[in-house]
Amino acid sequence: MNKADSERMAGILEAMGYFQASTELEADLVLYNTCTIRDNAEQKVYSYLGRQARRKRTNPNLKLVLAGCVAQQEGEALLRRVPEIDLVMGPQHANRLETLLTQVDTGQQVVATNDSHIVEDITTARRASKVCAWVNVIYGCNERCTYCVVPSVRGKEQSREPTSIKLEMEGLAIEGFKEVTLLGQNIDAYGRDLPGITPSGRRENTLTDLLNFIHDVKGIERIRFATSHPRYFTERLIESCSNLPKVCEHFHIPFQSGNNEILKLMGRGYTIERYRRIIKQIRERMPYAAISGDVIVAFPGESEEQFNETLAIIEEIGFDQINTAAYSPRPNTPAATWPNQLPEEIKVARLKKLNQLVENVALKVNSKYKGNTEEILVEGINPKDKNQFMGRTRTNRLTFFESTLAKEDSYKPGELVQVNITNIRAFSLSGKAI
Ligand code: SAH
Ligand code: SF4
Repeated sequence: MNKADSERMAGILEAMGYFQASTELEADLVLYNTCTIRDNAEQKVYSYLGRQARRKRTNPNLKLVLAGCVAQQEGEALLRRVPEIDLVMGPQHANRLETLLTQVDTGQQVVATNDSHIVEDITTARRASKVCAWVNVIYGCNERCTYCVVPSVRGKEQSREPTSIKLEMEGLAIEGFKEVTLLGQNIDAYGRDLPGITPSGRRENTLTDLLNFIHDVKGIERIRFATSHPRYFTERLIESCSNLPKVCEHFHIPFQSGNNEILKLMGRGYTIERYRRIIKQIRERMPYAAISGDVIVAFPGESEEQFNETLAIIEEIGFDQINTAAYSPRPNTPAATWPNQLPEEIKVARLKKLNQLVENVALKVNSKYKGNTEEILVEGINPKDKNQFMGRTRTNRLTFFESTLAKEDSYKPGELVQVNITNIRAFSLSGKAI
């Protein structure tokens, strides 16, 4: 989500005539797009800002912008902490960057953190990839997970109109993009805030409807979406995914904990039994699908047994990949105020054990690829080995492969190549093009 926001803001700057400096210490304008999901992400920005503040003392024309979730969380307090900042802007204001910079030009310090209707993204994002693009479909989050800062910094859910999403995808296809990942914090909530009810009383602007609506955009070969929420994930969605050939066989469904008591305290609104059922339904219809998720360990009060249940579910389900984190208390969240916080040693030990297991399980799961032929969407050259191309399977596995063609006939980014998989590692595959 943050990368997508960064790409849009970079696009706005480019349209204004800025170009990328070779280092952040040479730039006339520096914009940090910040993350506050955990404390260590937040702390990073202060050390970056310190360096820029020193530069500004000798270079008063330097413009210093703090965007993103730390900006939203801290607001005006940031100007007191780092008075050299020109603009503090929350994530809901990303698309308004140009207007806000115009205000800065009149000599004021500007703070844009009020709740705001997100203006439609009419700018051309400066996308890092020429092949795979992010497309926001819903901003914000209306959930209240007790550990999570996102609802307070990204605001209420705001869905984009299906026609605007399709229009953006058509534009991407014309530019040569092949893959689109639809983005939302809780993408299953897509359309809840849009009008539209069918005669049978069903909402007609669901994620499933959106997938059907955008599926046939010519030129886009692969469609992904994230993040799914087990509370709202539907069988109808799985059925559609299995019938829509461009929708890739990969689901990112965070489960956070394997213990029902902890899930309840987290305010997640589902049980681990429901989670198991979802995975079973996916595997019945799409046996080859990859499943990934997010997990938090050492949530306040989590016992050793409860932690072990998280480990057990990872083995049982056989996850392809998991984003792991130790619980970090966040401002304005209920769990941060609870007295039963766990000590740092437990956090570190559990996270280490978890990461080891995640790696072992991923390696085991990957063995299914050995000897297979996989369709790889080429993204470029392996930065660590110029003789190899790099891309992903439909299941989102990073894959490196060698060409069997002469160099000058090599594959171009955006090409789909059949690759015979010969080597597997925990988080990547390698092989030879057929
Ligand atoms: N909307 C998504 C993910 C949002 S944040 C969802 O609901 O799953 C991404 C991940 O960061 C979360 O899934 C969670 O695993 C992790 N996370 C969020 N808040 C955290 C906190 N306070 N401490 C540790 N990890 C956290
Ligand atoms: Fe945070 Fe929960 Fe919303 Fe995800 S669903 S962004 S974890 S509040």
